Amino acid sequence: MAERLLVVEDSKPIATVIKQIAKSLQYEVTIARSLAEVEEILQGDSDFFAATIDYSLPDALDGEAIPCVLSHGIPGVVLTGKMDDSTRQKILSQAVIDYIPKENSQAFLYLKRILQWQKTNHQNSILVVDDSSSARNHVVELLKRRKFTVFIAKNGIEALERLAVHPEIKMVITDLEMPKMDGIELTNEIRKKHSREQLSIIGISGADNGIHSARFIKNGADDFLRKPFCPEEFYCRITQNIESLNNIAQLQIAANTDYLTELLNRRAFFNEAQGRINGYSKRNISYGLAMIDIDHFKKVNDHYGHEAGDQVLRVLALYMRKHFGSGLIARLGGEEFAVLIPGLDEDQIYGKFEDFRRDIAVSMIPTGDQEISIAVSIGAVINSKELLPKQINEADNALYHAKDNGRNQLCVSGMEDED
Ligand code: GH3
Ligand code: MG
Ligand code: MG
Ligand code: MG
Repeated sequence: MAERLLVVEDSKPIATVIKQIAKSLQYEVTIARSLAEVEEILQGDSDFFAATIDYSLPDALDGEAIPCVLSHGIPGVVLTGKMDDSTRQKILSQAVIDYIPKENSQAFLYLKRILQWQKTNHQNSILVVDDSSSARNHVVELLKRRKFTVFIAKNGIEALERLAVHPEIKMVITDLEMPKMDGIELTNEIRKKHSREQLSIIGISGADNGIHSARFIKNGADDFLRKPFCPEEFYCRITQNIESLNNIAQLQIAANTDYLTELLNRRAFFNEAQGRINGYSKRNISYGLAMIDIDHFKKVNDHYGHEAGDQVLRVLALYMRKHFGSGLIARLGGEEFAVLIPGLDEDQIYGKFEDFRRDIAVSMIPTGDQEISIAVSIGAVINSKELLPKQINEADNALYHAKDNGRNQLCVSGMEDED
């Protein structure tokens, strides 16, 4: 269901722009043009995900709509034409998400980013570490207003325990002085296990001494806040660090993904496969590695065109996901794929590869205006004790054997003679 946004705005053109922005983010919009309308709407129904609040309304010239909306537990962004310091102070002393000066041409772009963050921030888990409950609660409240998922700890030891059971935590905001393990020691400990690309650390200290920021950074923190900080500065630091983490994560995904099929690429397969094989061997789980190559694929391109060929590759990838689910599935290049799957025993692994081959052989693949029939040859190794490169080599030899033997068949290394 779409999140509902309350837009409090007396100017029609501005309300229209905000509505367009909100709709592009799949918000469902309700507009109120005066404080009286806000009160009327909220009396009947205050189930809004967020609100944008114009500072001056015809019947509320001095921000009176802000406490009215906030008192219903609705997080609000204030838009204002007034830039003076006392207005800013007055707005920021209330529990708003943020405020945006309206005359700035960047204002609506910024509003869009805020509304987007508000929807997606719950995917970002943050651990707040502080021995003082009032300081901790203050930070937690600021984060919750922005819809982050929040965990808390009272000292460094507790923080490490939380991190161990919640690997989804992306950021740690830590106080400096704490009993048992302080913020610097904690930062040091975290960095033994988590790189700056995986987890961001922000140090906080009340001590009036510039040296602490340097100590935090030198011990592996990414940023530093000195108490007391204003919410604006706090949010800027948090969102900047989270955005940079998310950008890195996206780059990593892109670097590991085949653009056409969205399967893993060759690089990712080689990085990941040996670790999984080690895990299967250690836990005595049967597993198989297969090289899969489309038969006479060149003819598909020659006959139906390259575009149709691409579509065949995409659909084949879907079939692989269907058959090999949680296994490691990759496009190694061209029309050649690799899978690594666990199973109950050798026969079951063999059966999974063979089922896939047969399914492809009997299926028609729809592309634009025609349906194409293809077949695949598969070379596999099952429960090999060799290292990955050797296993791939053996699977490749078995694949060659399958091709040589007439294609559209599965050959398992060491079993060629039995077939
Ligand atoms: P074999 O049964 O021996 O494997 O024959 P084949 O034609 O499949 O093998 P060959 O290696 O001779 O040709 C592979 C073809 O795959 C040639 C190339 O045009 C095509 N191909 C490789 N990558 C892509 C791609 O990304 N898209 C399309 N449409 N075709 C591709
Ligand atoms: Mg403290
Ligand atoms: Mg081929
Ligand atoms: Mg080939």
